[in-house]
Amino acid sequence: MTRREFLRRCALVGIGAAVSPFFPSVAEASWYIPSALPGVSVRPTHLKFGILENRFVTDCIVVHHIGMANDDDVSASSVHEWHLNNGWSGIGYHFLIRKDGTIEQGRPLGTIGAHVYGENNHTVGINLAGNFEIGAPTEAQKVSAARLIASLCTVYQLDPMWQGTVKGHRDLNATVCPGRHLYAQLPDIVQQARIYYSSEEMQTERLRIAQREREEEERRRELLRARMEEAKRRNGMTRPSHPTPSAPNPPVQPPPEKPGLKPNKRPDLPKPNPSPAQRRIAT
Ligand SMILES: [Zn+2]
Repeated sequence: MTRREFLRRCALVGIGAAVSPFFPSVAEASWYIPSALPGVSVRPTHLKFGILENRFVTDCIVVHHIGMANDDDVSASSVHEWHLNNGWSGIGYHFLIRKDGTIEQGRPLGTIGAHVYGENNHTVGINLAGNFEIGAPTEAQKVSAARLIASLCTVYQLDPMWQGTVKGHRDLNATVCPGRHLYAQLPDIVQQARIYYSSEEMQTERLRIAQREREEEERRRELLRARMEEAKRRNGMTRPSHPTPSAPNPPVQPPPEKPGLKPNKRPDLPKPNPSPAQRRIAT
């Protein structure tokens, strides 16, 4: 697990403690599912899904279009029907943004989607209704997409501007999705998402998430301490925690004294000859 993944997983601990009806009871271990998304309102759709799997890592948001023959608006429940007819568990995208900017709930956010081949287990899928090979996304759709991206980045602790946070479907699979007109506007949408992401509301949300993270960490430590205490107590009653040594340990020898620091000895110099008799005297 990379550090980013680890941080993200930690970040989401505690957020989903209370799962709202908005996110169905698909995940019993719901700690990684945010109970609400800050800064956006998502219309609940109450769709019924087949078997879904939980997603434990989220490091990328993938943008799609519907890409039908026309550029018409379409609802999440229609896409849900199509995808059920494909034999899938239901709509493969987590969100669908209607032409009027309404964000509709698709597949529950904490579950693995079915929207990008080979990359579903770490991505969230957003679909903008329309065919953007033909038409262009509406202003309302672009604003909603930017707000939704900012919100998702806040709860999953991603920066929208990081390379790889927001991708068009065509960046990952061989497809024209999300259509050239939307794909060309993705950088602007991401830029706008960064502005929402930096807003006071999102900053407050990030602080709140960090606070929950700390509290959760403290709870975990407390639990661990309690378990260790319990184990110690049980061990103490039934058997000693380690065998008694048959003989006492030998006394610890004091460490040898360090030699004192002495000034370096001067190199031996020839001693002055004590017998002057041997001295040659000039005559
Ligand atoms: Zn797509």
